Amino acid sequence: MCPCGIVNSVKFNLRAESPRDYADMLLSFKHLPNVLIYDFARGLVTHTNLREPETIPFRPHEGRLAEATPTNLKSAEKGELEINLPWLKLKKEHADINAHPSTVSSDHFALYDIFHEGNTKDPKDCLRKIGLVPELRGWVNSQTAEQFSSKMRKNNYFMNMMSPGSHVFLMRSVIHHHNVMVNKKILTDLRNNVSEDIALDQTGKAIMGAYR
Ligand SMILES: [Zn+2]
Repeated sequence: MCPCGIVNSVKFNLRAESPRDYADMLLSFKHLPNVLIYDFARGLVTHTNLREPETIPFRPHEGRLAEATPTNLKSAEKGELEINLPWLKLKKEHADINAHPSTVSSDHFALYDIFHEGNTKDPKDCLRKIGLVPELRGWVNSQTAEQFSSKMRKNNYFMNMMSPGSHVFLMRSVIHHHNVMVNKKILTDLRNNVSEDIALDQTGKAIMGAYR
């Protein structure tokens, strides 16, 4: 899911979800998003980088925001470390090789949201906190994802009565309508000038307002 609430990808699992499933979706993308938020970020990186040893998708620093040096770890723990990702707001001037077209950066970070940053016992994972990035802080609201899940959970009672084929078909249809609704709301808010932080770029894509 994009922070705006649009669902970009979905996978149907027969068994419990694992980083492998998340990686399946990511590796089916033409371009990986530069920043990923997942409740088992470290597991996602280990799995994906082992699976794609030629490209090593999560880098630099194994998808952490900074190198895991004792100094960086200490200042991240104290809440004193700030890592700017300016290209999230303004395209880089010189494109990286194999860059994402929107940011022209080829960096890929795997981070924890504030509700799941306690999931991990690895001290190096304090370099995976959204809060370290001023451009993301306060912007990425994982409640958007939680609200979507609880909305979808209400469909379980009839979805689970269906054959797998109908289940997949209907789920995709429901998600499509959700996406159309989110898009409509963004456009209405823009028209009524109530959305201060979102603007459209020249391709019509919703972007963070710093472009204006
Ligand atoms: Zn979006």
